[in-house]
Parts: sequence; C-alpha cells; structure tokens
Amino acid sequence: MKCNKSKPINDQLLGSWIRCRRKAWLEIYGDKQKKLWTAHSTLQLNHQNDCFNKLSQKSYGIGIKACEEGKNIAYGIRLKYPLIKNRIIKVNLPIVKKTSGKSIWGNFSYQPLLARQGKKVTREHRLKLAMAGLLINNLQKYQVQKGLILHNANNNIKIEKIKLTDNMNKELINSLLSLERDLESTNPPPITSNRKKCTICSWRKDCDAIAIKEGHLSEVSGIGPKRELLLKQVGIKSIKELSKIKHYKLKEELERFGPHHGDISRQIILQSQSQITNEVIRINPEITLNNFKKANGFLIYDIESDPDIKHDFLHGFIRIKNNIYNEIDLKKIKYSPLLNLEKDSESFLWKRIKRKLNYHKELPILHYGETEPISLLKLGLRQGENSQEIDALKKRFIDIHLLIRECWCLPVRNYGLKSIAEFIGFQWSDSNADGARALLWWRQWKKSRKLNNIYSKNLNSIFKYNQDDCLATLMIAKWLIEQE
Ligand code: SF4
Repeated sequence: MKCNKSKPINDQLLGSWIRCRRKAWLEIYGDKQKKLWTAHSTLQLNHQNDCFNKLSQKSYGIGIKACEEGKNIAYGIRLKYPLIKNRIIKVNLPIVKKTSGKSIWGNFSYQPLLARQGKKVTREHRLKLAMAGLLINNLQKYQVQKGLILHNANNNIKIEKIKLTDNMNKELINSLLSLERDLESTNPPPITSNRKKCTICSWRKDCDAIAIKEGHLSEVSGIGPKRELLLKQVGIKSIKELSKIKHYKLKEELERFGPHHGDISRQIILQSQSQITNEVIRINPEITLNNFKKANGFLIYDIESDPDIKHDFLHGFIRIKNNIYNEIDLKKIKYSPLLNLEKDSESFLWKRIKRKLNYHKELPILHYGETEPISLLKLGLRQGENSQEIDALKKRFIDIHLLIRECWCLPVRNYGLKSIAEFIGFQWSDSNADGARALLWWRQWKKSRKLNNIYSKNLNSIFKYNQDDCLATLMIAKWLIEQE
C-alpha cells in the first residue's frame, strides 16, 4: 500500500476520522468497490439542505464575492490553508452567515454554520466548526468568536451558538496531526472496538469479514469497548480464548475491577462458545412460553419512525388466525398499514388503532424490542385513554426479542431483528432495505407527494419493508416455539 502524503485533508475526512480512525484511512486507500451505499449520508445531506432552506434571508450570494459585497448569507465557500505543516486543509462550507466584527471587507465578519442531526452536539460538530472558523479567520483577517449549529426540533429550526475557544482549536490541531500520522501509515488503524459505529458505516462488509477472521472480541454480542478492554487486561484477547475460560475464573478476574463486572461472565462465555461452534445454546430452560403457546391467533406489530421529529409515521399490523403450531402461509397473511401523515393528527390514528386492538381483544400482540409497546402506550395516554385500558393493553404485549435473549445464545453477532431473522432463514423481499432506507423513502415521499409522483412507489416499498419486519417477528416466534 502506497501512502499518500500530498492529499489534502478536508472536513469530511476529519469527520470520518473522528467517527473511526480506520474509516478515514479507508476513505483514502480502501478499495472503493468494497464500499456499500448507505442511506445515512443522503439523509444527512437532505436534512442539512432542509435546515439551510428554512434559514430564509433576503440578502444572499454565492462564494467569496458575496462576502465582499456584505450579503447576509454566502453559499458555497471553498477554502484551503496549511493549518498544519506541509498539509493543505480544505473546507467546503455550504453556508456562512454575516455577523458583527471588522473584516477586510468592512464592519462585519462571517461565521461558520452547520446543521446537525441527532440529539446533541458532538465532538465532530465542534471540531468541524473550529476548522471552518480557523479558515474563515484566515480569509477575513478577523477572529470569528462563535459558530452556529442548526437543528430541526419538531419542525422548528433551532440555532445553537458554539463558542470557538482556543482549547477547541488546540484539540483540532492535535486531531489533524493524529489524522495525518494515520494517513502516513501503510497499514490501516485497527477496527474500532465500538462496533455499534460499524452498523451505519459503508466499510462494514470489509471490516466485519476481517474481525470475524481474526476472532475479535468485539464480534461477541454483549462486548462493547469497555468490556473488551477489561478482558484484554485479564489476558483474554480473542473469541477463542474467551470460549475456553471457566466461568468462575473469569468472574473472579473481572470482579477485580468492581463486583458488577463479574455478572456478565457466564453470558459472554456462552455467547462466544455459540459463535465459535456455530451452534445454538439453550439457557434458562425454566422459562416456558405458555402464554403464547396456547393462544389461538396473534397480532404482530411493528412501527416505522422519524427519530428527528419523534414521529411514528407507520403502525403496521399482521394478524394470524390460528395457533402458532399451525402451518403458516406467509403469502396469505393480511397486512394492515396505518399511516400517520402528520405528527399532530394522532387522534384519528389512535381511533383506528384502538378499533383494531378492540376487535381482536383476545389476541396477544407480538413485537420485537421495547420501542413498540412504549410508543403505543404513550400514544394512548396522550389521547386520554383510561388507566384500566392502558393496563389491559400492557398485558397483551409479548416481546420476542426479550424471549430470544432470555432463552438462547445464538451464533450471531447481534440480536437485532434482521440478524436473528436471517439466522433462522427468513429473507426480506428487498435485501438492501433497512430502517434508514425506509426513513429516506418516507421523507422523499412526504416531500414530493403533492408535487409529482416520482417517489410514489416509495410508500409501497415502506409498506413492504414494514410487513417483512412483522413477518420476521412472527417467524422468530414460531422458531422459539418449535425449539421447546
Ligand atoms: S466498519 Fe467499523 S471499523 Fe470499519 S471503518 Fe467503519 S466504523 Fe471503522
């Protein structure tokens, strides 16, 4: 591998490096053919454009010329400067905003502005702002004091002011120097131990294959970065080593770091054994599934949400008319999608959901994970449902994810719906569909539905994806019963 000393570092590469050092290296030297498309970058870009569009200003222009003319907003500013020795640093600023100050253009200056998704301001946001700030300072010959971060809170654009401090600038320069060192290496940095980051990364296919081949501890469900570190400190460096240690011995070793650290030892050893041998291991055999073994029918329920505005836009149900032991013809199952177009039109939605739930009052409601009951119960409470009704509804939920976790160690890297359903042989109609893509389909459809029909097929894709989530939940429930 040839290292590329002259390649400029830009704000995007810095963002990748902050998320995972290896990702930045792969962006430069990785085989692009191995890169997967993910919906996340499109969602992020669309979100940024929405935020910027809502920042309506009468006086605006394009490029540095707009700054020279003192416009309120300047779009599309490209800057570069060697912030660190021998390395050009580039930023592409989609937008900068006029503020007070004394720049080379007059009694005003410009400040950087970015849009964020997610719940809070992260290190990535702060360092990107600092980087933009330093390059703007160099251009306008005036030190900008604050950067702005826009975010969409319940369809209102909120602006946060972030002070650009010397400490932030120091942290930025140190990060750029570390990033440069990584880029000068002929080998990629190690796979991150926080593998949750990998789920939305376009390099995951490549990294997963390496982590599996090398038996990384982070491959074991239940081992995050902290636990991995503790295991390494007690001399366990791979899945194989973990699978061979005695439970009481590991418990004793881990309890040195605090009494609670030993609690997980049995579970992670069994999990590693399942993954090494590729075999299922039954745990807690005393747990029986009587409540849904006997039921003569089920509702299966799954939600699709837009997390940025806390909007559950689709409540999907399927109904099984028979006992779960009976043969199930997936093609004949009726799917009911209940769409909630606007967040503030919940009362009609609740009436429809309630009608459905009451019509099949005797049926348990299967779901995968805790999101569905929490959202549905909260919806009922917001709509003034009485406490007896809410308690009765609560008792109907059966969490298949919880049962799988309590009863089985499976040879899978995580216990998400997709991973478990694929393990038992279920396949989604669209193998590339996932929650992020469904969200992208939804936002595209919602935006364009009154204007054109380019995205009209998106709604069917969302329904199909949600229906498959329900069917996957059903098939896992059936698998659970069949193993008893
Ligand atoms: S898949 Fe994970 S380890 Fe690999 S580059 Fe992405 S975040 Fe880093």
